[in-house]
Amino acid sequence: MAKVYLATDIGPRRELNEDIVADLGHETYVVADGMGGYAAGEVASRILAATIRDALAAESSFDEAVLKQAILRANDAILQTVRENPRYSGMGTTATIFHREGGEIVWAHVGDSRLYLLRNQTLSQISRDHSLVSDLVANGSITQEEARSHPKRNVITRAVGVETELDVDTGAFSTADGDILLLCTDGLTSVVPDEEICSMILASPEGEDVAKRLVRRAIEVGSHDNISAIVVKFDE
Ligand code: CA
Repeated sequence: MAKVYLATDIGPRRELNEDIVADLGHETYVVADGMGGYAAGEVASRILAATIRDALAAESSFDEAVLKQAILRANDAILQTVRENPRYSGMGTTATIFHREGGEIVWAHVGDSRLYLLRNQTLSQISRDHSLVSDLVANGSITQEEARSHPKRNVITRAVGVETELDVDTGAFSTADGDILLLCTDGLTSVVPDEEICSMILASPEGEDVAKRLVRRAIEVGSHDNISAIVVKFDE
């Protein structure tokens, strides 16, 4: 079994919370960060979570292909909603999911929300950001530090519900005793550095809602965005 903490907050400056966090059952979790005008981002992230929930309900075991297929179904469902409601044109959402199957984690990902693994007191980002600044860091044009304040840091290069063709990243790894997984949106990671996220999780006392604490920290240090986090602590 695992201890699971989920938190999401509209943040101090937004009129809507377009993020969604969900425990889909069967040790499967999702975060999504919707975008688009006229409340469309909220619609996109909610269609995504509902579609993935339905897709997975029909499955008995979840491998990378199954998670990828669930995201592709959500892609079709969002595009279909836009065809029926042109006012939602331009909406889309990030999607980052993981599932624990025995001693293995499988994950699937699109966009700039993140999956992290905290193991041996080290926080590692497992998912790769599909964002303009991530590409610029990768090709050496800017540093990681410059990326944090780059004027185009919000531009993502892949989202669910925007085009009929969608590349979904997937992966799998074995779990170890004491592993902690974090799923979060950029409302957290754009203002709270990885080192601080890591030390906050490690310092969190038994039973504290550490997801809520991370979200509160993002607000304290001035996040203008919606902020979401899911922390899953596997039993030692
Ligand atoms: Ca966001």
